[in-house]
Amino acid sequence: MKIGGHMKRSRREFLKATAHSGALLALSGVAGMAAEAQAKPAKSQNHATPNAREPGLTIHKGHIFHIAGSPKVTEAAAMLEWFPDGALAVDGAGRIVFCGNWKDRPPHLSAAKVIDHQGGYLLPGFIDTHMHFPQVFCGDAYGGGQLPEWLNNCVFPSEGLLADPTYARMAAIEWCDRMISSGTTMGLIFGSAFPHAQDFLFQTAKERGLRMVCGRGIETVAPDWSKQKTSEEEAVRLVRAEIEKWHPLTEEARKDALQFVAIVPRFSLSVTPKTMAALGDLYAEYRERGVYFTSHLNENARPKTGEIDMTKEKYQVENYLDTYDGKFLPGSQVGGKSFLGKRSVFAHGVHCTDAELARLAETGSSIAHCPVSQLFLGSGTMPWRRTVASGVNVSIGSDYGGGDEFFIPQILNACFKVHISERTPVGIDPYPIDDQSISLHPAELLFTGTLAGARALDQEDRFGNFDVGKEADFVVLDPAKCPTYGRTLKNMYQHPSPKIARDAHLFAVIMLARETAVSSTYVRGRKLKTSKDLM
Ligand SMILES: [Zn+2]
Repeated sequence: MKIGGHMKRSRREFLKATAHSGALLALSGVAGMAAEAQAKPAKSQNHATPNAREPGLTIHKGHIFHIAGSPKVTEAAAMLEWFPDGALAVDGAGRIVFCGNWKDRPPHLSAAKVIDHQGGYLLPGFIDTHMHFPQVFCGDAYGGGQLPEWLNNCVFPSEGLLADPTYARMAAIEWCDRMISSGTTMGLIFGSAFPHAQDFLFQTAKERGLRMVCGRGIETVAPDWSKQKTSEEEAVRLVRAEIEKWHPLTEEARKDALQFVAIVPRFSLSVTPKTMAALGDLYAEYRERGVYFTSHLNENARPKTGEIDMTKEKYQVENYLDTYDGKFLPGSQVGGKSFLGKRSVFAHGVHCTDAELARLAETGSSIAHCPVSQLFLGSGTMPWRRTVASGVNVSIGSDYGGGDEFFIPQILNACFKVHISERTPVGIDPYPIDDQSISLHPAELLFTGTLAGARALDQEDRFGNFDVGKEADFVVLDPAKCPTYGRTLKNMYQHPSPKIARDAHLFAVIMLARETAVSSTYVRGRKLKTSKDLM
């Protein structure tokens, strides 16, 4: 069985074989008692032998949920770990040395500093795999239509405001503040076309210790009034300069790096075949040094005037994905190099054909699913069952400002609602065939908002869960900061089955959470500061 395809097999096997006996019971078909036993708070495990005297050794005490190991989304429930009175120990370098029950913490951690989060929930940091920095002030922009109208009436002119360095600097600070205050520890970000705005964003993220992958938005086709449009030569020159300035180009530098660069054509309609060919050559030059690729795919299917039909009309290709797969000449003839691969993420994938999904899966590319944006722009929804069944890794994306929500648990909330309501066709008369609806398990939601994102970004060995040895990225949700949240979690009905009670608890932790519940956000063991904290 092919699982993920992004991890080295040896690590996957090691994690499955050594760390998760409860999960192995459940996976091997020992149902009933095994499942119930696994639903009880997990037994402590996973401790390495750190140097107890190492400065900075810290134990975070709180209510822990995470998806252990390296499962597929459909295996996430079996890998859910739960420590209601938990301990997450982090060494001075920001690496996890223990995750388990507080009472089971190993004696050699006794010298560690303790931070008691007072019943707060510790979840892996949220990973947003599709967001737009120059749309930071575009939330709930009224476009008077779907994607094409919204872009022309709101977004293109708004993004032009970043031509002003003062505005761009303010936008970069606002962006990093929002990521930190919403618990998003890593973002795959469509950047601004303007190099000074990108410099502000990279510099601010660096100063704050925030993870991100970002690249300037490339447009060589745009209305005459667009400030973002450049010539093809200029586009390639600017992307190369950004990579050389901000991307960690050596293997040694990448091991510790928090910020990375991506090649980001806005979408196929914003460039020409000639630009595609030139960017493909540029990507080929840098892809082995960890540079990313991201763009939009199959978002708006309105006949003739929508994104997909316009793309196929312009390129004369068989399917949209061909334009990113080197086959961007008429008849899907090969015209250059492919962008697909394990560090390539395609936003939306609402209307993919089976052939496109198969191609994404076989190349290890990921889809960033953006359910709030798809609702806001009337794009439909990425079909969950069919997409997951194809083997493509699906991570979550806000698509801010195409989506009007920054906080990942609320995007997972929308994800749950959209897919339990999924029907073909959508509508009520005649009653549609109910063969697409799915009630996503809370562990699948948590997986999609955390570990799937780390996999999409090919950094699953560094973060995404609380396995020992990973870098400690986590968010603390404090029920006391959000009274409705706190009172519900405290007084909700407790099902007599420990497994159902655990799952119901996690479901409420995710679905009910609001941004005001975020009390702190950590990357690599370090608490991040917003502008307010720095004042
Ligand atoms: Zn987008």
